[in-house]
Amino acid sequence: MDLNAKIYIAGHRGMVGSAVNRFLKKTGYTNFILKNSSELDLTNQHAVNTFFEAEKPEYVFLAAARVGGIMANNTYRADFIYENLMMESNVIHAAYKEGVKKLLFFGSSCIYPKFAPQPMKEEYMLTGLLEHTNEPYAISKIAGIKLCDAYRAQYGCNFISVMPTNLYGPNDNYDLQNAHVLPSLIRKFHEAKLNNESSVTVWGTGAPRREFLHVDDLAEACCFLMGSYNEEGLVNIGAGEDITISELALLIKEIVGFEGTIEFDHSKPDGTPRKLLDVSKLTSLGWTYNISLREGLKRVYDEYSAQHLVN
Ligand code: GDP
Repeated sequence: MDLNAKIYIAGHRGMVGSAVNRFLKKTGYTNFILKNSSELDLTNQHAVNTFFEAEKPEYVFLAAARVGGIMANNTYRADFIYENLMMESNVIHAAYKEGVKKLLFFGSSCIYPKFAPQPMKEEYMLTGLLEHTNEPYAISKIAGIKLCDAYRAQYGCNFISVMPTNLYGPNDNYDLQNAHVLPSLIRKFHEAKLNNESSVTVWGTGAPRREFLHVDDLAEACCFLMGSYNEEGLVNIGAGEDITISELALLIKEIVGFEGTIEFDHSKPDGTPRKLLDVSKLTSLGWTYNISLREGLKRVYDEYSAQHLVN
């Protein structure tokens, strides 16, 4: 991408899209097309077609998605599959029709089977049953990958797919019912500290293992792939290391400085037992992560606590 290329970031206000935008700006890119959901409803095919015809973006980062943690995925099952299928179908088809030079689609590590061997390689997609709690979301993301590959095969479109691991960073969702585990625990420990509470409740058993990547690392990896990777299939983006939810809780407790105890609510689901990406494909292409989990957590906690000085 040359520095004045016209770039459309779908979902630029979300955690992923805003990180891509920050990274590209820092690198010297200036020619962005950015529309929030009230200006452009990506589930509306006519609106998306009209937008692409008028703007004719050269490059597209498709980061717009309905996303959430284990409870949100499990509760809003219809919304998660419907909205994601509509957004990705509309944007990918319009990108084909208007001759977009390259499109990058964001998937998710939940596209892999619930009991996939660990760490999970790209070729494990569609080799087993999915985790029930986020199956509708995962099906929509698998459809997105297949859309990119089908438009590449039939029409020669340079559309690529990346599978990020669990992400965290600026513009994350901290709503306790709908958020992912990492922002939820930051909020829970922070509020417990401010309120002098004696304990914090962590959902499930604490035994599941998850991998976490700072979204600024993801943005860097995606821009690296936008410049260098032109194949069908998918590329995992992660750190290649995971920890248990209990260990994550202890680390966040320490960084927040909470002195009470941790309790586990066994009535809440654990979800997939382990989700660790095999990142050897990305490593062999020439990219590895920079921000350690401890360093990344300190950064997000500094940002979060500065905005939430009182409960
Ligand atoms: P998942 O990776 O799709 O399962 O989504 P989450 O990030 O929401 O959950 C990851 C794991 O953390 C699951 O085992 C949850 O039960 C566990 N967990 C522990 N405490 C919390 C919490 O406060 N919020 C969320 N969302 N998950 C939690």
